[in-house]
Amino acid sequence: MSERGSGTYDAVVVGSGPNGLAAAVELARNGRSVIVLEGEDTVGGGARSAELTLPGFVHDVGSAIHPLGYASPFFSTLPLGEHGLEWVHPPAPLAHPFDTGPAAVLERSVEETGSTLGPDAEAYRGLMAPIARDFDRLIGSLLGPPRLPRHPVALAGFGLRALRSARGLAEGLFGGERAKGLFAGNAAHSFLPMEQAPSASFGLVLSALGHTAGWPFPKGGSQKIADALVSYLRSLGGEVCTNVRVRAVEEVPKTRAVLFDVTPKQLLEIAGEHFTWRYRRALTRYRYGPGVFKIDFALGGPIPWKAEGCSRAGTVHIGGTLDEISAGEAAVFRGEHPERPFVLLAQQSLFDGTRAPEGKHTVWAYCHVPNGSDLNMTERIEAQIERFAPGFKDRILARSTMGPAALEKINANHVGGDINGGLMDFRQLFTRPAARLTPYSTSAKGLYICSSSTPPGGGVHGMCGYFAARAALVTTLR
Ligand SMILES: Cc1cc2nc3c(=O)[nH]c(=O)nc-3n(C[C@H](O)[C@H](O)[C@H](O)COP(=O)(O)OP(=O)(O)OC[C@H]3O[C@@H](n4cnc5c(N)ncnc54)[C@H](O)[C@@H]3O)c2cc1C
Repeated sequence: MSERGSGTYDAVVVGSGPNGLAAAVELARNGRSVIVLEGEDTVGGGARSAELTLPGFVHDVGSAIHPLGYASPFFSTLPLGEHGLEWVHPPAPLAHPFDTGPAAVLERSVEETGSTLGPDAEAYRGLMAPIARDFDRLIGSLLGPPRLPRHPVALAGFGLRALRSARGLAEGLFGGERAKGLFAGNAAHSFLPMEQAPSASFGLVLSALGHTAGWPFPKGGSQKIADALVSYLRSLGGEVCTNVRVRAVEEVPKTRAVLFDVTPKQLLEIAGEHFTWRYRRALTRYRYGPGVFKIDFALGGPIPWKAEGCSRAGTVHIGGTLDEISAGEAAVFRGEHPERPFVLLAQQSLFDGTRAPEGKHTVWAYCHVPNGSDLNMTERIEAQIERFAPGFKDRILARSTMGPAALEKINANHVGGDINGGLMDFRQLFTRPAARLTPYSTSAKGLYICSSSTPPGGGVHGMCGYFAARAALVTTLR
């Protein structure tokens, strides 16, 4: 695996994250010769798994829960099941506990979700039932570059709500704390303050995915997504080399097109001199978002949740009310560290016996922190979990922590701990990394960018890679 490719290729892909691999697969299945060069010693970028704590405990190093991967219009055309990918659907996608009472639960059914939201059951149904009904038609427009929509009426109805702030939408529709809190937890995946548009879009898309696709994860860990893509790529004749860090365009084997699964900061270092002044300036002005502080736990037993509903869910959002989540996310955006951070937690081993020895468990959890932060958030994250699950700390056998610097060390794309390849605010959601008709092309002929720093942005869905490959296929590789 670690030999740098020899010979010539139609295309070279730099970086083996889900987008780099997706780009390589799309090129190979269109008959182009392709090699992927990966700087680290394992493939997968943000979709990797490893025994981070104790032998026999398989942790997800980056991504854990994959509604976007499961629903991806590109991945769903690939025979990844034949290459080892098996999805696990927990009984409920998501639980959101409060200090008292049962948890609000995002169930597969819109109605059943509403029934966990007290006075807002009907308002939730009114919001989500039409979006869930149309979602199969919407997803193609949502997971791609800006273009003329195929279903303009459905998209306009969705867009009117999605382009608002999470607080504006939730307070306009819901009267109770349960629905507002559940919605805020999903919207907080945007890394934006709850008062900033379009944070509502993340809340709507993740809720709709829960109702249509579920929030599954791969049996055996997110590494299985990358491994299945590599296995399929090889079956098509593609090559993959690890331990090859590309520092200049001139270092890649002879080729007609290079697709970079890197973010603008690295692209400037590797290929800056090939770009026009204007494109270089756009990349220099590209903005990164907050970082994350992540902990993986090996536990002697399952998390002893207080609230009914939490043990049925693959993911648990810890942060209580909209106001608490909003205060925490706004603090991070201002460059501060919240005392009570919003914590995203996954408990895969409850539903996947391959993750931990019999009776033992793995837990994946992170919170947002300012970009480049070096504050250790372990105590604050553990205090938040303990608040909703008294006795949790007593079950910890071992932990592994990674702040922004550690995350960037294992994947150069995590600039300052940003896991989405750049801030996803209004401007950069649609024009990443620069305002161009084809955002995947650069100003240099034959050089493309295919990472999550292009539309549709962060998440394991491969759509950035797919669209970048299409752009190369209709121009340089025609
Ligand atoms: C802690 C964490 C939690 C996450 N949770 C989720 C989740 O639950 N669900 C979800 O869908 N997404 C999640 N994500 C986000 C998701 O992992 C990323 O959005 C996704 O991996 C982006 O894919 P990519 O191919 O654009 O880049 P990456 O996956 O970052 O891959 C880039 C690759 O390029 C390589 N590379 C970089 N520079 C060079 C170079 N110069 N030469 C050679 N190789 C190079 C890197 O080593 C890396 O392998 C999470 C990420 C992290 C870190």
